Amino acid sequence: MDNQALVIFGASGDLTYRKLMPSVFDLYMNNSLPDGYAVLGVSRSKFTDSEFRKKMKEGIKEFSHFKNAGAEKINHFLKKVFYISIDTQKSEDYELVKSKLRELNKKLDLRHNYIFYLSTPPQLYPVIPKYLYGQGLTLQQKGFRRIIIEKPFGHDLKSAMELNKSLTDFFSEEQIYRIDHYLGKETVQNLLVTRFSNGIFEPLWNRNYVQHVEITASESIGVEGRGGYYETAGAMRDMVQNHLLQVASLVAMEPPAKVTSEEIRHEKLKVFRSLRPLNEEDLRNNVIRGQYTESHVKGKYLTGYRDEEGVDKNSRTETYFAMKFFIDNWRWSGVPFYIRSGKRLPTRVSEIVIHFKPSPTQLFKSVDGAIEAGNQLILRIQPDEGILLKTGMKVPGNGYEVKSVNVDFHYSDLKDHYIPEAYERLILDCMTGDNTLYMSGEGAELTWRFVQPILDYWESDPDAPLYGYPSGSWGPDSADKLIEGAQTWRYPCKN
Ligand code: NAP
Repeated sequence: MDNQALVIFGASGDLTYRKLMPSVFDLYMNNSLPDGYAVLGVSRSKFTDSEFRKKMKEGIKEFSHFKNAGAEKINHFLKKVFYISIDTQKSEDYELVKSKLRELNKKLDLRHNYIFYLSTPPQLYPVIPKYLYGQGLTLQQKGFRRIIIEKPFGHDLKSAMELNKSLTDFFSEEQIYRIDHYLGKETVQNLLVTRFSNGIFEPLWNRNYVQHVEITASESIGVEGRGGYYETAGAMRDMVQNHLLQVASLVAMEPPAKVTSEEIRHEKLKVFRSLRPLNEEDLRNNVIRGQYTESHVKGKYLTGYRDEEGVDKNSRTETYFAMKFFIDNWRWSGVPFYIRSGKRLPTRVSEIVIHFKPSPTQLFKSVDGAIEAGNQLILRIQPDEGILLKTGMKVPGNGYEVKSVNVDFHYSDLKDHYIPEAYERLILDCMTGDNTLYMSGEGAELTWRFVQPILDYWESDPDAPLYGYPSGSWGPDSADKLIEGAQTWRYPCKN
């Protein structure tokens, strides 16, 4: 790997402390950093290098895979970690970024290779590229220049398009890395391997054999003091437009011609282009939003969303979102996709469930509805990452009663293998110039285009339903009615 510097804007913030610096330290511990590297933290707060290193050391000791690496190793890594204080909104302050990088270049032989990581409030995303450009720091003359952008990529279609424009004015698309930490998760990547390295799944992975596809990302916690932020987002913007639609594209895409970033992005884009636009009936019947209300869970009182700090008493921000949609292409025509995400649900889990059609005739009786429901392939993203196939098996004894059993694999069975944190994997990919697991600008816009009618409907129709659901439940009852026929959502706590 080339020598290089990682410049983190927003270095005094929470993300740098909990995720970014611990992940870069993990790379160091795994010998994945080049000999010549530097990490330069940039934000307004005043720190000397040694104060910043002290703070980062605390974060590493709490959040790194190698938290017990010992002071000597951590200090050695931190020797190449530096800090400058600037106001990102002032163009003249970028001279300091430039001169500091010049100095570090000389000292550490960085070969003019820089990654700029934007971990600041999103209002600064259009500002920083412009001022970096002003100092000539975006042009790839001597070394490479890349930029990593944290989510959110816009607040709606219009702002996403504006953001893309303000990025592509100063960086080319190949230089832009839009991070989606979901795509950095091992099981999400394993989805491609499961599909395209096993001959047995792909022939069944289509409208002929799949009844429907379900994608869930649930959290048991509420907004936990981040009510102010959440009020501006909501479950649809926070989870669905980005993470879950990205995951859906990996479930639905065609096999790529090659395992290259270009080919994989191309196949994902084809899925986004095939999303059936939502019509008025879909908006009324196939999109459900909810908000958690106060309740007692396991004897503990939990406040309702509207009583959370920073939340409007009449808030209409959704803490639960579910929808049904279709992908109108050759493979998926007529197969419903269901997506749901919410807070204060019974458990924290993210999983994809492929529901296969039941056998055409039912010769046997099942004791638990297993045959009627059909086989399910469950790809668990978190926690306890793994893959599970629900299969009907004979209950021992007389007769032919059938029960559902699990054929399963847990990533924890591969204990001997190191499983990197999503951020570690993604930062490494950017360092090596591989943007396969990052979102493309067009992908971000297409997913916004798909969900924009939902936002418009909620905004324009005061009667658009918002259902309350008790904390600790699986969301509004009406979400159950989304799923066709006798099927229901899978309830991961029970099985
Ligand atoms: P945060 O704790 O509020 O940190 C924001 C950072 O931006 C601070 O370092 C702040 O430092 C800096 N900043 C603000 N205004 C600035 C200015 N005018 N000039 C220079 N620096 C400025 O936020 P965070 O949780 O780290 O999140 C950072 C970004 O990542 C946000 O866009 C967030 O939406 C996104 N994100 C965060 C997470 C997470 O888990 N935390 C997950 C996904 C995405 P000073 O006040 O010192 O300037």
